[in-house]
Amino acid sequence: MSNQPDHVRLHIPGPVEISPDTYEAMATPMIGHRSSDFQKLYDDVHPGLQELFGTKQPVYLSTSSAWGVMEGSLRNLAGHKKVLCCCSGAFSDKWVDVARRCGKDAEALQYDWGTPIDPADVKAKLDTGEFDVVTFIHNETSTGVMNPLAEVAEVVRSYGDDVMLVTDTVSSFTVVPIEFDALGIDVILTGSQKALALPPGLGLFAVSERAMARAETINDRGYYFDFHEFAKNQAKSMTPSTPCIHTIYGLRHQLNKIFTEGVENRFARHEKLNNIAHEWVNENGFEFLAPEGFRSKSLTCVKNNKGIDVAKLQSLMRENHRLQLDGGYGKIKGDTFRISNMGDETEETLGNLLSALDDSLAKL
Ligand SMILES: *Cc1c(COP(=O)(O)O)cnc(C)c1O
Repeated sequence: MSNQPDHVRLHIPGPVEISPDTYEAMATPMIGHRSSDFQKLYDDVHPGLQELFGTKQPVYLSTSSAWGVMEGSLRNLAGHKKVLCCCSGAFSDKWVDVARRCGKDAEALQYDWGTPIDPADVKAKLDTGEFDVVTFIHNETSTGVMNPLAEVAEVVRSYGDDVMLVTDTVSSFTVVPIEFDALGIDVILTGSQKALALPPGLGLFAVSERAMARAETINDRGYYFDFHEFAKNQAKSMTPSTPCIHTIYGLRHQLNKIFTEGVENRFARHEKLNNIAHEWVNENGFEFLAPEGFRSKSLTCVKNNKGIDVAKLQSLMRENHRLQLDGGYGKIKGDTFRISNMGDETEETLGNLLSALDDSLAKL
């Protein structure tokens, strides 16, 4: 726990640091997942989740990390035509591979890492009529790019019920407003260990009526991620299989905190902290990987234009300050490093991180 003296405080973009009060809220006796106690717990979290996703559709709780739902979406929706995967970073690039491993015919709309998705390219691809599912990552955590969700959703919706838009909001959910129903998204999904500041292991998602109808036409949806199994169980305030009950207790606590803070205030806090991180980048002569106008509000992917030793920076941060800094993801490890401001971070915690960075940079 964070009050353990040797704990290295996480400032990586997932999993993020968990507040002691969240652990306390999770320290409850076990309950049966077919009990009225569990139904009450689900009923407690459900309206808040619908509000945060901007939907009147049910919100489903999947005991899996986000990838489970990312893979599950393809198993539920893809099979008739090809899947178009918008690829511009580690997570989005991997999604095309995951689609193929599920036996789906998938094509990458590939961009360089750090380049935002261009809705006009999505339109040009969909105009071929070859695709009926699009995978899209709102906030590409590996590059710090926030992609234009509303614009891409508008393109996809112009094909009516023919094309399904599956959107990963793993590192943008509760950071910026996302309106599932209004944007006409078909699947929206997130995970517990990013901005929700909960332990890993819980996926949260919603599905449009269009997508539920599509799923009915798809064979071999399997069981664990079958959307219709989720719907049947959700109608009774339950999940298909035994869920991670304690993380859901934590979720109830975090939702209470979110609505006590106020959703708008929460968005504003993330924006403010993100701006502080951006100022630090500018003041220290670093650059951003993401172009202006497409920068994430939940993390900052700093381009290592000064050629510093990022691994050494990380170890100085760890040894001298007990802080865990991210050293870049996948093929841009060392060429970038990332500062997360998502979850329960405050001006104080971010300020501590930035002073520790100043100190560590001076010692490189
Ligand atoms: C972290 C992350 C994932 C993977 O989440 P898991 O919970 O590890 O499955 C997927 N997409 C994005 C954008 C992420 O940031």
